[in-house]
Amino acid sequence: MTVSRRSAITTSPSRRNVLHLRLISAGAAFHPVRMAASVLRLQETLDVNGPVGCPAIAVCSAWSSIAPSEYHGLIRAPELSALVVRRDGRSTWSADPDEDAFEVSPPTRRLLTHVGWSRGVTVLAVPGLRHHDDRWKSARAIALSRRDFPRTLVEAGAGPTIIMRAEEVNTSVLTHEVMHVLIDYPRDVNRGDEHVGDPDRVCCYGREATGWRLTPSECAWIRGNPLLAGANDASSARFEARNTPAGDG
Ligand SMILES: [Zn+2]
Repeated sequence: MTVSRRSAITTSPSRRNVLHLRLISAGAAFHPVRMAASVLRLQETLDVNGPVGCPAIAVCSAWSSIAPSEYHGLIRAPELSALVVRRDGRSTWSADPDEDAFEVSPPTRRLLTHVGWSRGVTVLAVPGLRHHDDRWKSARAIALSRRDFPRTLVEAGAGPTIIMRAEEVNTSVLTHEVMHVLIDYPRDVNRGDEHVGDPDRVCCYGREATGWRLTPSECAWIRGNPLLAGANDASSARFEARNTPAGDG
């Protein structure tokens, strides 16, 4: 794996929360301009939600790639399958917070182990992606968060990982997936599912997922996320004091 480019977007002295993103083109799926726009969209979404309690976060990204031959050697299939159901056909969902919420496929495990990196969020842009929902379907993106996939991520030495089908995504998909990782409900909050029906919300489950709005409750979960190194410096503490969560909205 070779580092091809690095960038840091919007930092200021008061921004002590840093979210490190490692963006990896896996198998020649990389669209640098689209990915840069996606990172900017994420930064803007975090910024515009400051008034409802989103902490000040600077997104820092580093880009790299995995060559197609290396990628296909890892996944050993035309497309990556991310999540699978058990052989008996029952739902994979587990309420046990020490176990994965869903079973992760062997190719995905190999890929996670290969890229294992726990300092921030890894984003893999892949040529194709499938998930199992009654039958195998093409998927756009999947977020493997710490609370949903504790066993797999620890075993792979990986941090939260987002896998995106690079050819299909619009620029708001990265934002939506990163919010799954940042909000990351425990399994006993809405079964760990951050999705909502309101199309104005970032966490809308709709096909386009183009909403901008976070709620005070979602922002409170983001503030508590240990991924944000250096949280709660003086300026962000003042910021948060002015923006105390007043319930979901
Ligand atoms: Zn989602």
